[in-house]
Amino acid sequence: MDMDGLLNTQRLLKTFIELVNINSPSFGETEIAAYLVRAMERYGCGVTVQEYDRGVNLIGRKKGNVRGRPPLMLSAHMDTIEPTAGIKIAIDDEMIRSAGDTVLGADDKSAIAQICEALAVLAENDVPHGDIEVVFTSAEEKGLVGARNLDFGILRSQHAIVLDSSGSVGNIVMGAPTHITYEMRITGRAAHAGIEPEKGISAIRAAAGIISSAPDGRIDPETTANIGIISGGTATNVVPREVLIHGEIRGHDPRALEQVSSRIFETARRIASGLDAGLKITERQEYRSFRLEASDPFVLHVISAFKRCGIKPSLVVTGGGSDASIFNESGIRAVNISNGMQKVHTSGEFILRKDLIDGCRALLECITSLDNINPVIPV
Ligand SMILES: [Zn+2]
Repeated sequence: MDMDGLLNTQRLLKTFIELVNINSPSFGETEIAAYLVRAMERYGCGVTVQEYDRGVNLIGRKKGNVRGRPPLMLSAHMDTIEPTAGIKIAIDDEMIRSAGDTVLGADDKSAIAQICEALAVLAENDVPHGDIEVVFTSAEEKGLVGARNLDFGILRSQHAIVLDSSGSVGNIVMGAPTHITYEMRITGRAAHAGIEPEKGISAIRAAAGIISSAPDGRIDPETTANIGIISGGTATNVVPREVLIHGEIRGHDPRALEQVSSRIFETARRIASGLDAGLKITERQEYRSFRLEASDPFVLHVISAFKRCGIKPSLVVTGGGSDASIFNESGIRAVNISNGMQKVHTSGEFILRKDLIDGCRALLECITSLDNINPVIPV
């Protein structure tokens, strides 16, 4: 189906600019949420506002106009990385970019604008579609907090398109790693550094040993490790009693990830006990890995929709997490596609006009052509 005539590119751009002008740092999404409730209602969605202790998620549901089609979930996140306050936007024939020191917030507002425009097209035209469930999450940038707090109970979709990947339109994220974060609390013994250093146990010396010996960086093509924060010590004249190390490990293969984490933690225990320092390690799984096959019917559907739009699909595996990780963990098959945003999380962030439009065209094609590829089996 040719979407080019249905899509209102001016309205798409206008929506995007309006969204960019709403400041929406993580946990500060009230204003953008209100805007999106109005937008979704305008385009015929029933909207559920889900509040949790620190924020809010939105679920918009639009009834399908063709029987027997599977419901489809579309998702993007409402928050942006900071700084965004006082944003200045530069627009020319080719691109929309940040003109100042802030990020643009195309991550993920270009995706939100594309979803809104798709809803508008569905509302205004008699194009075939099944039930649509739109999920706008909060605080994605703070560790997928909104998605984690989403109540999946009212969602029926078994398939989701998440629009939260950067690069040219056409990228389809097929897999993401498991992400583990950890804290090491190293406890030594304080002593006066000038009078009786012999009585002290330096937690900083223990930390230095751990940091220099533990596996770090890219361990293998699918596994990475990083120590990101160290803190400790109180004064130059005190042998430091305590140091905190915060790090992370990511891996696509659970076995390799397990091996790396035990190597890191065993190295740390060996070094700490060699120096008579105490060590307490707490770890947390932020999200679990997923991997979709290129032969997966839903993936094939997205690929063929892209091709019909003249967009070259490119299957990628990422080292980062997204709400798609949480959705897959929750049993919804979710691909994360690029909406065209570039250089995200920097003041050089931009999106090409062409990509903003192409992302929306591809999304509409995915929606309107999702026939009975994956019939929902009644239970
Ligand atoms: Zn994002």
